[in-house]
Amino acid sequence: MPQNVPEFRFSDDALRLRQFLYEHWCAHGRGPNLRAAHQATGLTRERLIEVYRELDLGLICTVDHATQNCNLLKLQPFSSYPSQVEVFVGGKFHSWAGCAMESVALSRMPPFAGKEVRLESYCACCLAPVSLATRDGDIVSRVPEPVLIHVSTSPREWNTTNIVCMCDSMNYVADAEHAGRRARAPLRAADLPPRRPLHARAGAPLRRRHGGEPDVALRLAAGARRARAHHRGDQGARGGREQLGRIASMASTPAHGAR
Ligand SMILES: [Zn+2]
Repeated sequence: MPQNVPEFRFSDDALRLRQFLYEHWCAHGRGPNLRAAHQATGLTRERLIEVYRELDLGLICTVDHATQNCNLLKLQPFSSYPSQVEVFVGGKFHSWAGCAMESVALSRMPPFAGKEVRLESYCACCLAPVSLATRDGDIVSRVPEPVLIHVSTSPREWNTTNIVCMCDSMNYVADAEHAGRRARAPLRAADLPPRRPLHARAGAPLRRRHGGEPDVALRLAAGARRARAHHRGDQGARGGREQLGRIASMASTPAHGAR
């Protein structure tokens, strides 16, 4: 789904497919393939793909538009592929959550009413375990107690082509100190040329490669304004820090509305 999609109403076919997708995913912990969707809805292959694209445009699911089978990557709040949050229902692995933000809302889905939905995740900075028990939208217990959700992108970066990168940037952290540490790791791996460091110690001397530009991470650590302006990842990290307080209070009262 791109940004700035005008308001529209889903077709009846889209609503039928949406209902089937949610029921199937809650029952099985994974999405259906095209044949299963065809058997459940009676829609032809061509119509199914049109309707999947309609649901994607309305932010219900995320499909790979370039694939002939319209591969289903996500059905918010679920992910088809391993994500940062494992979901357990009744003590058994159920599914992957779409992201940390989606995971706190997951226990409000009608098929999970009254059930304990346990979220197993980790701190984005140090990979220490994070565990939350949720029920009917409430967080029943959390380990560690001060756990937060860290958002390392700006809303300006969300939904540029789809929500995969947005969800990737919404992660649990052990506490505010770990959030700060994560926020100070300013560049995503994808932004870095190979063999450059992800982290630099504060006050470390600028090191130059081949007599040229200093390493990007070191320039950021030295606080060079020019470097900040050139690297959106850093803007995102700072935006994430500013959002932390708000996100933390959302996480404790998990009505979704995160997006
Ligand atoms: Zn950590």
